[in-house]
Amino acid sequence: MDHNLTLYNSLNRFKQPFVPIHEGRVGMYVCGPTVYGDAHLGHARPAVTFDILFRYLQHLGYKVRYVRNITDVGHLEHDADDGEDKVAKKARLEQLEPMEVVQLYLNRYHKDMEALNVLSPSIEPHASGHIIEQIEYIKKILDAGYAYESNGSVYFDVPKYNRDHPYGKLSGRNIEDMISATRELDGQEEKHSPLDFALWKKAAPEHIMHWPSPWSEGFPGWHLECSTMGEKYLGETFDIHGGGLDLLFPHHECEIAQSVAAQGHEAVRYWIHNNMITIEGKKMGKSYNNFITLEQFFKGDHPLLEQAYSPMVIRFFILQAHYRSTVDFSNKALQAAEKALLKLTDTYRRLNNLLPAEKSDVQLPDFMKACYEAMDDDLNTPQVIAQLFDASKIINAASAGEIKLSADDISRLRQLFDVFLIDLLGMNLGGETESGSSMKAFEGAVDLLMDIRKNAKAQKDWATSDLIRDKLADLGFDVKDTKNGVEWSIKK
Ligand code: ZN
Repeated sequence: MDHNLTLYNSLNRFKQPFVPIHEGRVGMYVCGPTVYGDAHLGHARPAVTFDILFRYLQHLGYKVRYVRNITDVGHLEHDADDGEDKVAKKARLEQLEPMEVVQLYLNRYHKDMEALNVLSPSIEPHASGHIIEQIEYIKKILDAGYAYESNGSVYFDVPKYNRDHPYGKLSGRNIEDMISATRELDGQEEKHSPLDFALWKKAAPEHIMHWPSPWSEGFPGWHLECSTMGEKYLGETFDIHGGGLDLLFPHHECEIAQSVAAQGHEAVRYWIHNNMITIEGKKMGKSYNNFITLEQFFKGDHPLLEQAYSPMVIRFFILQAHYRSTVDFSNKALQAAEKALLKLTDTYRRLNNLLPAEKSDVQLPDFMKACYEAMDDDLNTPQVIAQLFDASKIINAASAGEIKLSADDISRLRQLFDVFLIDLLGMNLGGETESGSSMKAFEGAVDLLMDIRKNAKAQKDWATSDLIRDKLADLGFDVKDTKNGVEWSIKK
């Protein structure tokens, strides 16, 4: 594969050329959603980030197997107040089977992802469907001597592991600092060290989701599902493991320890992490009451929102920042993203209506090359967007009759927008979706009015021509007469 893609690897902390293990194929694993509530912005960012990587790798010609798991066994993620498993709690409150809760929120998650134009992964394995594999994985770690059984639960022995292999290499932490920073919590007396983490947990009587195992009726530890399902679907060693930066420690650190303990070597070549999202400068959290779900964004249905924001505005906003930078959501910033996207959409429409001249009277910069260079440089989407805006200036000047573009140059610009804006950034500006076809119908109707107005003007029927212009202005359209005819846009 002839390309220069470099990716920032959290393991070495620098950008390095991407070379897959198997020529022409890429295995990619991304930690997926926990399904006990509606998807919010925290879910949108990793989904969009790894969607871009998925799209780009495929664009470069790789056959990509993209695995994104579904965390549905509840695990150790208890509510701090009552210690109850979150799926189980939801099931009790809503009088549903735990798997009904999982399916309910998974369906909603898929709907949100589709709205954001996030492509489906190749495999979406459920943790609950891989209990047998997880038990086998625990046996391997026990056999290697890096885990112990305690009161029906099994824990990973971090200090013992650390004597043979560095624990903390991904997060850059060392075990002494970690021990001094840990405070003992209730129920930890089963563990030999506060750093030890559960591979299998004996279920308390009120715990609804549990499975038989050699150690107890219980459930697997959270970190285990990713090591197990990564190995099952991508092999003992695979190319890319991704997720949000919040998962780097302890989740991904524990995954590395599990792989080394069970297999004798690490599983992952490139660890890729997207940075976090804040809302109006604050972390998302229960105490701030700022968990805005994607559904609420799409409908404008939250006290913090001044208006609704379409899924494409949310996606565009995420892509305006590099995936390793933090992103702060505010109404102001989202409104700016909406305006910017509208400009690009208008340009894209004008581009498709441009009439070619015999010869261009400007020299077109090599936008394609610049965009490929930006993508190759650790998926620099803000730089791609900047290039598209530079190209927009030329397109808009041509559309206004200020410059001329040849048919070749116009087709080059169309290719630029089709490849980068539509295919790789994944902006859905019309086409196959329902909203896309209604957009097309809408544009066609306005264009028809423009034609009627043109005919009216040709026949000096000023009353009809002015009526159409004024009525459209009342409805919020901006109609301009240009050298090449008429141009319309929606006023913002
Ligand atoms: Zn994971």
